[in-house]
Amino acid sequence: MGIRNLIVGAGISGLVLAERLANELKEEVLVIDRRNHIGGNLYDYDDEGVNVHKYGAHIFHTDSCKVWEYLRQFTQFYPYMHEVKALINGCYVPIPFNLNSLRMLFPESLASDLESKLLKAYPYGSRVSILELSKIEDLKFLSEFIYENIFYHYTLKQWQCSPKDLDSSVLSRVPVCIGKDNRYFKDKFQGIPFEGYTKMCERMVKNPLIEVRLQSDFKEFKNLEIQRVFYSGGIDEFFDYCFGELPYRSLEFDFRKISKEYFQSASVINYPNNYDFTRIVEYKYFLSQKTSRSVISFEYPKNYSKGMERFYPVPNDKNRALYEKYLQKALELENVYFIGRLGKYEYFDMDKAILNVLELFDKLR
Ligand SMILES: Cc1cc2nc3c(=O)[nH]c(=O)nc-3n(C[C@H](O)[C@H](O)[C@H](O)COP(=O)(O)OP(=O)(O)OC[C@H]3O[C@@H](n4cnc5c(N)ncnc54)[C@H](O)[C@@H]3O)c2cc1C
Repeated sequence: MGIRNLIVGAGISGLVLAERLANELKEEVLVIDRRNHIGGNLYDYDDEGVNVHKYGAHIFHTDSCKVWEYLRQFTQFYPYMHEVKALINGCYVPIPFNLNSLRMLFPESLASDLESKLLKAYPYGSRVSILELSKIEDLKFLSEFIYENIFYHYTLKQWQCSPKDLDSSVLSRVPVCIGKDNRYFKDKFQGIPFEGYTKMCERMVKNPLIEVRLQSDFKEFKNLEIQRVFYSGGIDEFFDYCFGELPYRSLEFDFRKISKEYFQSASVINYPNNYDFTRIVEYKYFLSQKTSRSVISFEYPKNYSKGMERFYPVPNDKNRALYEKYLQKALELENVYFIGRLGKYEYFDMDKAILNVLELFDKLR
C-alpha cells in the first residue's frame, strides 16, 4: 500500500498537520526532515540553563484564539512581552519607533513639537507605516529621519537592496507607534513555551501513528509509492528548479557564551547603521532565566546559495511571478500539497503557518 501520508519537513507546519492527521483522523504519518532535529526554525536547546533558539529569536504572538488554544494543548506559555531596542546616534531606543524613542533622540522642545504633530495626525496608540507618515507635510522631517536611521541601512544589510526594490509589506512590518507602549507586538496572545519550542513540538508528535525520520531527504522518497505528500520545503527544489531558482536571504549566527550575568539591556538589540551584523540576541530574557552566565548571538544576513538555509523569501513582483509558474505546475499534481513558508514562498510568522495548516486540514476532512 506504500506510505499513506508523507510530510516533508518537521517544522511547525509539518508537525501540526502530522498531529491532526494522526490524532483526529487516526491515520499513519511519516514525517521526514533533512536536519537532525524536529521543530524546523523553531528548534531550541538548553545551554547550561539558558534556552537558546538555534535559528534566531522566535517569539510567539497571535491574535487568533484558534491558534492559541491549539498550541496550549502542547505547552503552557511564559508571559513574555517582547521589547526591542536599536542603537541610533549612540542611544538605545525602543523599536518600533514610538514617543519614548522620540524623546530619547531629540532635544525636548523639538520632541514636544513633533509629538503634538503626531498626536494631531493620528489617534494615541495607533500604529502607522513609514510610508503613511511621509505623506504628511509637517511630519516629513521625522519620517525622513526614521527612514534613514531605522529602515534604510537596516534594509540594505538585511536584504542587500533598497527598500524601494522590495514589497511595501516589508516596510509595513515595522511601523511607527504613536504611543509609549514599548512592546514590539500588539497581539492579544504572546509568550514563549515554558519548556521551549522543541518540547512543545515533541509533544505534538507523541502518537504511535506518527513516525519521524531525521536526516532524511525527500530525494530518497521520490520513487516510492506514496498516497499523499505534504511538502514544506522549497517549491522550486521540488520541481528541480525547472524555471530557475527562487531567491532567498539567509543568515549566519555567531553564538557566544558570556561569563557574566547579562550582556545587554534587552533580549534583542538592532544595529541598523553600524557593524555588519543586524542584531544581537540575548536568549535568557525570553524565559527570565537566572544564571550567572549568558548566551548571545550576532546575526549576519547572507546571500542565499544552494546548500545554505533558506530563511527569507525575497518579496517582489519578479519573484512572485516566478513562484506563480511553480504554483501552476503544483496545481497539476494530485495529492501533493505545498505548505509552510518555503512551500508557499511567503514570509509567515508561526501563527500564520499554523492557521494555514489547520485550514488545509479542515478542507481535507
Ligand atoms: C530568523 C527568523 C526569526 C523568526 N522569528 C519569528 C518570531 O519571532 N515569531 C514568529 O511567529 N515567527 C518567526 N519566524 C518565522 C518562523 O520561523 C516560521 O513561521 C516557521 O518556522 C514556519 O515553519 P515551517 O514549518 O513552515 O518552515 P520551517 O521551520 O522552515 O520548516 C521546514 C522544514 O523542512 C525541512 N526540509 C526542507 N526541504 C526538505 C527536503 N527536501 N527533505 C527533507 N526536509 C526538508 C527543513 O529542514 C525544515 O526543518 C522567524 C523566522 C526566521 C528565519
